[in-house]
Amino acid sequence: MIIHLNRSIDQARAEELGRQYEAICMHDGGRYVLITSSKLKEADATLKDASEEIYVTDSDIQLAGKKYISTTRTIDLGVAQIGGESHSTLVITGPCSVESEEQIEQAAKLCVELGVKVLRAGAYKPRTSPYTFQGLGLRGLELLDKMRSKYGLKIITEVRDSTHVDEVIEYADIIQVGAKAMYDQGILRKCGKSNKPVLIKRGFGSTLQEFVQSAEFVLSSGNPNVMLCERGIRTFETKTRFTLDLCGVAWLKQYTNLPVILDPSHAIGYAYGVADLSRACVAMGVDGLLIETHPNPKVAKSDAEQQLDFDQFRALHHSLGAVASAVGKKII
Ligand code: PEP
Ligand code: MN
Repeated sequence: MIIHLNRSIDQARAEELGRQYEAICMHDGGRYVLITSSKLKEADATLKDASEEIYVTDSDIQLAGKKYISTTRTIDLGVAQIGGESHSTLVITGPCSVESEEQIEQAAKLCVELGVKVLRAGAYKPRTSPYTFQGLGLRGLELLDKMRSKYGLKIITEVRDSTHVDEVIEYADIIQVGAKAMYDQGILRKCGKSNKPVLIKRGFGSTLQEFVQSAEFVLSSGNPNVMLCERGIRTFETKTRFTLDLCGVAWLKQYTNLPVILDPSHAIGYAYGVADLSRACVAMGVDGLLIETHPNPKVAKSDAEQQLDFDQFRALHHSLGAVASAVGKKII
């Protein structure tokens, strides 16, 4: 249950009510808001007297649910807005990892050439083997910062674990919580204390319920700017790296109020299918697309097989506008 307390209720009283009803107490829209377990279905006289509005919810998808906010939230990315009434599909691109100044600068120039506003690249990589490239760490963040100042781009980069969560929050314009970090509540709560947009990637073994509940950790910690990213789940299929769950995307659009971003690159794991999948994603009317590109994918230090070279990306980018306009969206 979500309870909008009367505006006359001060912090001390709100927190006292929070303790009484085992609720999270947050400040939002100029008043205190309590969020209890969704198992609470009826407000007693105390809560009714103290509240302006009460929302009974079906499950612990509460702040992210359409029962609470019936339209997709607007997220302001500084250079553009997504969700809400924007009718925008935001393209995000860049390499899997920052590898060198020259490499990330080539990616930044590609963004400028095509009007792509958000550059992506990881500095802390969540690799499945400790013997592979782990990312440049702080040096990678510094290079991204340089690209932001030099080219006026927004930067999205991922947080892998608690050792560098503060650094990533400081350097990023959009904080990416990777598929493997999706369950890390320390990271999620820290992101919730920031007001920067947060993109949470779906764990490849996570249900939609678990996925959206991880967004609830960020939302209920006070940050309303959360985006969900479907990046493929693990199924019995082995020919592709993962399986892009477009049925899940339809569900997220239907039942949640969070913008949805799709990542076809990690889903298929091979460059050959990324363009077709990207068009399919745009045709679903999603809020954004995240595509890995590299100046020379063959020598990429991570995710080499799935990254598009720049000509492949130019051709793909060129084809997206018509698909977007067929579903009432525009590519930004
Ligand atoms: C990435 O975006 O490069 C990445 C590691 O993604 P994921 O967390 O989805 O595996
Ligand atoms: Mn990658």
